[in-house]
Amino acid sequence: MSDAQAETKKYSFTFDKAKDTWVCSVHGAVDCTAWVPCWAGCADGYFDSYEDDPINNDEGDLEICRECRGEGGFVVCGECNIENPDAEF
Ligand SMILES: [Zn+2]
Ligand SMILES: [Zn+2]
Repeated sequence: MSDAQAETKKYSFTFDKAKDTWVCSVHGAVDCTAWVPCWAGCADGYFDSYEDDPINNDEGDLEICRECRGEGGFVVCGECNIENPDAEF
Protein backbone atom coordinates (compact mmCIF):
# COMPACT_ATOMS: atom_id res chain seq x y z
CA MET A 1 0.00 0.00 0.00
CA SER A 2 2.85 2.38 0.74
CA ASP A 3 4.34 2.36 -2.76
CA ALA A 4 1.50 4.54 -4.06
CA GLN A 5 3.30 7.52 -2.48
CA ALA A 6 5.97 7.71 -5.17
CA GLU A 7 3.35 7.86 -7.92
CA THR A 8 1.77 11.03 -6.59
CA LYS A 9 4.92 13.12 -7.11
CA LYS A 10 4.33 15.22 -10.19
CA TYR A 11 6.99 15.39 -12.85
CA SER A 12 7.96 18.80 -14.13
CA PHE A 13 10.62 20.24 -16.37
CA THR A 14 10.75 24.01 -16.35
CA PHE A 15 13.14 26.81 -17.14
CA ASP A 16 14.34 28.71 -14.09
CA LYS A 17 14.89 32.27 -15.31
CA ALA A 18 16.66 33.38 -12.14
CA LYS A 19 19.23 30.59 -12.37
CA ASP A 20 19.22 30.57 -16.19
CA THR A 21 18.94 26.81 -16.26
CA TRP A 22 16.43 24.03 -16.85
CA VAL A 23 15.22 22.27 -13.74
CA CYS A 24 13.96 18.70 -13.75
CA SER A 25 11.89 17.52 -10.81
CA VAL A 26 13.88 14.27 -10.88
CA HIS A 27 17.40 15.49 -11.65
CA GLY A 28 17.37 19.09 -10.43
CA ALA A 29 19.30 21.65 -12.50
CA VAL A 30 20.41 19.98 -15.73
CA ASP A 31 22.95 21.02 -18.34
CA CYS A 32 21.92 18.25 -20.69
CA THR A 33 18.70 19.00 -22.51
CA ALA A 34 17.20 17.26 -25.51
CA TRP A 35 14.65 18.17 -28.16
CA VAL A 36 11.61 16.05 -28.87
CA PRO A 37 9.67 16.83 -32.05
CA CYS A 38 5.99 17.60 -31.51
CA TRP A 39 3.84 14.49 -31.46
CA ALA A 40 0.78 16.24 -32.86
CA GLY A 41 2.07 15.92 -36.42
CA CYS A 42 2.43 19.63 -37.10
CA ALA A 43 5.00 21.13 -39.45
CA ASP A 44 7.34 23.30 -37.37
CA GLY A 45 4.54 24.18 -34.99
CA TYR A 46 1.84 24.89 -37.54
CA PHE A 47 -0.82 23.06 -39.45
CA ASP A 48 -1.49 23.99 -43.03
CA SER A 49 -5.24 24.58 -43.06
CA TYR A 50 -5.31 24.93 -46.83
CA GLU A 51 -3.75 21.54 -47.35
CA ASP A 52 -6.26 19.91 -44.99
CA ASP A 53 -9.33 21.67 -46.37
CA PRO A 54 -8.72 23.70 -49.54
CA ILE A 55 -12.42 24.53 -49.92
CA ASN A 56 -12.83 26.44 -46.67
CA ASN A 57 -9.31 27.82 -46.35
CA ASP A 58 -7.10 30.08 -48.39
CA GLU A 59 -3.67 29.11 -49.59
CA GLY A 60 -1.10 29.90 -46.93
CA ASP A 61 -3.60 29.72 -44.05
CA LEU A 62 -1.69 28.36 -41.10
CA GLU A 63 -3.08 27.22 -37.81
CA ILE A 64 -0.82 27.27 -34.77
CA CYS A 65 -0.37 23.87 -33.13
CA ARG A 66 -2.03 23.67 -29.74
CA GLU A 67 0.37 21.02 -28.42
CA CYS A 68 3.68 22.78 -28.98
CA ARG A 69 2.28 26.34 -29.39
CA GLY A 70 4.20 26.97 -32.58
CA GLU A 71 7.52 25.64 -31.31
CA GLY A 72 7.50 22.45 -33.39
CA GLY A 73 8.71 20.39 -30.45
CA PHE A 74 9.62 20.41 -26.82
CA VAL A 75 12.75 20.86 -24.74
CA VAL A 76 13.04 17.90 -22.41
CA CYS A 77 15.45 16.72 -19.72
CA GLY A 78 18.39 14.98 -21.41
CA GLU A 79 18.89 12.71 -18.40
CA CYS A 80 15.26 11.53 -18.41
CA ASN A 81 15.24 11.02 -22.18
CA ILE A 82 18.61 9.38 -22.64
CA GLU A 83 16.91 6.25 -23.96
CA ASN A 84 14.12 8.01 -25.83
CA PRO A 85 14.58 7.22 -29.55
CA ASP A 86 12.71 10.42 -30.54
CA ALA A 87 14.95 12.74 -28.56
CA GLU A 88 17.58 14.77 -30.38
CA PHE A 89 20.66 15.76 -28.43
ZN1 LIG B 1 3.01 20.85 -32.66
ZN1 LIG C 1 15.40 14.54 -15.58
